[in-house]
Amino acid sequence: MITTDTNKFQAIISHAKEYGFVFPSSEIYDGLSAVYDYGPWGSELKKNIREQWWNSMTRMHDNIVGIDAAIFMHPTTWKASGHVDNFSDPMIDNKDSKKRYRVDHLIEAQADKLAKEGKTETAESLLASMEKLLSDNDYAGIKSLIEKEGIACPVSGTSNWTDVRQFNLMFSTQLGSVSDDASEIYLRPETAQGIFVNFLNVQKTARMKVPFGIAQVGKAFRNEIVARQFIFRMREFEQMEMQFFIRPGTQKEWYEYWKKERMDWHIGLGFDAAHYRFHDHAKLAHYADAAVDIEYAFPIGWKEVEGIHSRTDFDLRNHQQFSGKKLQYFDTELNQNYIPYVIETSIGLDRMFLLTLSHAYTEEKWTKEDGKEDSRVVLKIPPKLAPIKLAILPLVKKDGLPEIARELMRSCREDFYCFYEEKDTIGKRYRRMDALGTPYCVTIDHQSKEDGTVTIRHRDSMTQERVALSSVREMVSRSTR
Ligand code: ATP
Repeated sequence: MITTDTNKFQAIISHAKEYGFVFPSSEIYDGLSAVYDYGPWGSELKKNIREQWWNSMTRMHDNIVGIDAAIFMHPTTWKASGHVDNFSDPMIDNKDSKKRYRVDHLIEAQADKLAKEGKTETAESLLASMEKLLSDNDYAGIKSLIEKEGIACPVSGTSNWTDVRQFNLMFSTQLGSVSDDASEIYLRPETAQGIFVNFLNVQKTARMKVPFGIAQVGKAFRNEIVARQFIFRMREFEQMEMQFFIRPGTQKEWYEYWKKERMDWHIGLGFDAAHYRFHDHAKLAHYADAAVDIEYAFPIGWKEVEGIHSRTDFDLRNHQQFSGKKLQYFDTELNQNYIPYVIETSIGLDRMFLLTLSHAYTEEKWTKEDGKEDSRVVLKIPPKLAPIKLAILPLVKKDGLPEIARELMRSCREDFYCFYEEKDTIGKRYRRMDALGTPYCVTIDHQSKEDGTVTIRHRDSMTQERVALSSVREMVSRSTR
């Protein structure tokens, strides 16, 4: 069992703000609940994660291409996809505090509490009862369970609950300026539907043959009721989704293939395999015939970072029915028309970002040679994801050292992101770069002028070595891509 670490989680949130990774949205107006902005290093890190995903899908697979569909879609899309009728969470309101809660979150919090008290078995059986009731859509049963457990509202402290009701998570707005002829449309709650409605456009224009995939990265919006836990659960977030179109009947093999492929991607980035696990869904979404989550041991516990879903032909079939347009594929090998089945891989970019910080954030303390204590906060971000790859630091601001440093900067900046800094002592500059997760720092000193060598410092081990100035670019380039 992985223990939660609330202090570490709080430390990550403060660090992310202090060092320009993530800010609360519109902070000068006291922020907007569950909406966040990414700062200079946050947007760079986010871009690197996005690129790793995008390239792993489109460049590394001959049979996957990308698209970039609009956020707004024809409103019928969401009837066909089932979101208008089904994209809702069971909620319960406390009559005293008027606060609304997702029932699964209330019960999970209770299970956490029991586990912390050492009642692991009771906690597990509570979760099992909840999953069973949810999969039976037994909302009266869920309410009884909440009452039987004596779960109280964290705000009012009472157990004065309403019945359990469904609450749709889509945001809606009006398209058109005059209210009479304006029609209600939704902000997409997932990027997947932009792929489904373009299925034939892409298949034909990119000359794709089943099996093939379409990848997309973009914003999605959900009116999450219990939006907390920093960027783990946001109302506006980014998804990286890939729909893989296959022959009907081959879904089991492809499902296993993508489970492995996606787990390999995570581990291949440099994250610890022991912090990952698969979690099969007990209650399947309305579109799925098999579904699994890839979970990560965040400081707030095991949580989903990615979902892999076998979606059958649910989406294409429904779009065909609602649009009246054929969405079929002619398989020349089988000499047969069919609606392809789909395996989806869906990962939250912001959640992957939080995972990266959770892995990376490290507080270190040690005793120096002179007996004094020293410490640092270092982000051990995998080098290929790090926002800054190389910091270039002239030891002093004179004697021609800044010129050598600038020259190195000029020769490297086209290959990777480097950062120049000449203020403060070298020790302070190293600490700042540790806090930003910069894997390498190069110091230009007087010896550099004489023999063309520099000191390169490694972030994780803090070791330093003397290398030829001319070798820096190639060395950093190689170890950060
Ligand atoms: P959860 O159970 O956590 O609400 P979900 O099962 O509804 O997530 P999916 O619909 O499968 O999530 O979405 C795929 C991925 O999108 C998730 O694995 C997650 O990484 C990300 N995601 C979903 N909702 C949010 C959100 N509100 N904020 C940030 N990321 C999200």
